[in-house]
Amino acid sequence: MDATYGKVTEDIALALKDIVGEKNFLFRDEEKLKPFGMDTLSLLTGELHIPDVVVKPGETSEVSKIMKLAGKYKIPVTPRGAGTGLAGSAIPVYGGIVLSLERMNRILEINPVDRVAEVEPGVITNELCKKVLEQGLMYAGYPMSTESSFIGGNVATNAGGGKVIKYGNTRKHILGLEVVLPNGEILELGGRFRKSTWGYDLMQLMIGSEGTLGIVTRVTVNLISGGGSSIDLIVPFPDAHTAVQAVSKVIVDGNILPVAVEFMDRLSLTQSAKYHDIKVPFADREDAGAYLIIQLHGSTPEELEQTYEKTGEICLENGALDVFVAENRRDSENIWKVREEYSQGLGLLGKRIYSNPGDFVVPFSKVPAMIDELKRLETKYNMLIPTVGHIADGNLHTMFIKPDEVPDESWLDLAKGIYNEMTDAAIQLGGVGSGEHGIGVLKKPLFLKTKSPMEIELMRGIKKTFDPDNILNPGKIFS
Ligand SMILES: Cc1cc2nc3c(=O)[nH]c(=O)nc-3n(C[C@H](O)[C@H](O)[C@H](O)COP(=O)(O)OP(=O)(O)OC[C@H]3O[C@@H](n4cnc5c(N)ncnc54)[C@H](O)[C@@H]3O)c2cc1C
Repeated sequence: MDATYGKVTEDIALALKDIVGEKNFLFRDEEKLKPFGMDTLSLLTGELHIPDVVVKPGETSEVSKIMKLAGKYKIPVTPRGAGTGLAGSAIPVYGGIVLSLERMNRILEINPVDRVAEVEPGVITNELCKKVLEQGLMYAGYPMSTESSFIGGNVATNAGGGKVIKYGNTRKHILGLEVVLPNGEILELGGRFRKSTWGYDLMQLMIGSEGTLGIVTRVTVNLISGGGSSIDLIVPFPDAHTAVQAVSKVIVDGNILPVAVEFMDRLSLTQSAKYHDIKVPFADREDAGAYLIIQLHGSTPEELEQTYEKTGEICLENGALDVFVAENRRDSENIWKVREEYSQGLGLLGKRIYSNPGDFVVPFSKVPAMIDELKRLETKYNMLIPTVGHIADGNLHTMFIKPDEVPDESWLDLAKGIYNEMTDAAIQLGGVGSGEHGIGVLKKPLFLKTKSPMEIELMRGIKKTFDPDNILNPGKIFS
C-alpha cells in the first residue's frame, strides 16, 4: 500500500458505520469482505485485494459524508456497482473503503413528455429497460451483461454492447448526472436537455472515467420510442472475411442500419449451442466458419419484412451460405442466449482457457486484417483463439485455449503476453485497446505505452484537479 494513504482505524470504521448503519457495513470479516475485493476479471486471473471496509450508502448525502471522512484521513475509496467489470476497475488495489452502490437502486421517475428517466446508480440496466417499455419507451443501452450490471457501472465504463451500431454506447444515452466528488461536494452535471454549448462538458468527462473522478449517485437517461418491432436473422458464412464484406454491403449498399450485428466463429457458436442444449440453425454445417446474428427494426410489419428480405438477399449475394429468419420469440431468445452466454460452452472443451476477453477495436476496414492477425497468433502459439464480437463496431472479444504442451505454471504469463501482442496489433491497425470494458488494472501498462506523453500529462492534470490526494479508485487507468 502507498505510504501516503491512511489506515481504516477502529474509530474511522465506527464513524463509517454511523453514516450507513450497522446492516450496511462490513468490517473485519474476511469472508464477507472478499467478494468486494474482486470483479469478473478476478474469476479469470485471480486478481484479489480485500478491502478494509465495505459501506453501502442508501442516499447521496451518505456518499458525501463518506467521501469527506475518507478525504480527511486520506483513505482510498473504490466505488462499486455490480462487480461485473472485466478490467479489474472495481478491485480496491490499495484496500481502504469499497463504496457499494447496490442499495441505491430506485427508479425515481419516468417522464414520457421529457423522454427521460431518473434513476439511482444501483438499478440493474435490464430492470430499467423493462420498466420504461411498459410506457412504450426504450432505453437503448445494451451491454451483454444487461441483466446483471448496474446503470452506474455502465456510465462509469461507458459500456457498449450489441446495439452500439444503431444507438451508440452509454455516453449517447446519458443526459444528466449527479456526482459526489472526492472532496464530498455534490455536483449536478447536464440535465433534461439534449443540447448545450454551455462550457466544458464535465458530464461527458465523468462517463467512462471508471470511478476515478466522482461517484455517480443519480442518472438522467435519454429514452426513445419503443414502438415498432424487430426480428433476428442468423446467417452462416464460409469464413469471417466473407461475413465482414457482407456487413459492409448491407450497411452501405443496402442503406440498412441494423440494430445489432454480432459475430461468432464456428467453435464459439457450436460449443455454446451444445452447452445450452439449443438447436441453432446451420450449427451443423461443416462449410460454415463464421456466423452473423443480425437484428433489424421496422416501424411497421411491412417495413420490417422489406428490411429483412433485403438484408437476406444482400447476404446471399455476398457469400452467405443460407439465411434463417427467427419468426418467433423463442427462436430469437435462443439465438441471443447462445451469443450472450457463449463462454460457458468453451468450458466444455475441458481445457484451460484464458478467458480474459480481448476487447480491442479496429476501424471496420481493418477487421479482415485483424482476423488474419488472430490466425497468425493461433499458428505461432499452436492454440485456438475463439472469437465473437460486435463486428460492425470493429470490436472483437477473444479467448485463448491452452495448448496441451504448455505447462500449467507458465500458461498465465504466456497468455498475458499473447494478449498484449494481440492488443498491440489492434493499435498498430489504427484501433484502441478497449472498446467497452475499460482499462482498470488490466490494460494500464498497454494504455500508458500507447498514449502520447502529452495526453497522459493532461489526463493526470484533470485527475489532480478533481482528486488532488488520489483517493478515488487509485491504481486505475494511469494512476
Ligand atoms: C457476461 C458479461 C458480459 C458483458 N458484456 C459487456 C458488453 O457487451 N459491453 C460492455 O461494455 N461490457 C460488458 N461487460 C462488462 C461489464 O458488465 C460492464 O463493464 C458494466 O458496465 C460494469 O457494470 P457494473 O455495475 O458491474 O460495474 P463494476 O464492475 O462494479 O464497476 C466498473 C467500474 O465502474 C465504477 N463504478 C461503478 N459504479 C459506479 C458509480 N456509481 N459511480 C462511479 N463509478 C462507478 C467502478 O469503480 C469500476 O471502475 C460484460 C461482463 C460480463 C460478465
